Amino acid sequence: MPIYEYGPDGGDGCEYCANGFEILQKISAKRLSHCPACSGPVRRLLSAPSVKMGRGSVLSAKNIEKHGFTQYKNTGQGFERTAGTKGPKTITP
Ligand SMILES: [Zn+2]
Repeated sequence: MPIYEYGPDGGDGCEYCANGFEILQKISAKRLSHCPACSGPVRRLLSAPSVKMGRGSVLSAKNIEKHGFTQYKNTGQGFERTAGTKGPKTITP
């Protein structure tokens, strides 16, 4: 079941929905239109949380460094180090 993210639609929302909330719903389930806590209007935000959590954070420069890896970016003329502290700053072929 996917997790959907909702946020207030229009109003300020309540403590529960003001900064958005996530809810597990069946794909076939109806979208929520009202906050379960304050019944204010909410709308589903465009996001795919499982994708966001997956690749985004695991391959972030910070995470790569934390685990002792080094990341290089292909610049066209060579490679430039974008994460990590080991290895040369740039590699030119
Ligand atoms: Zn609310």
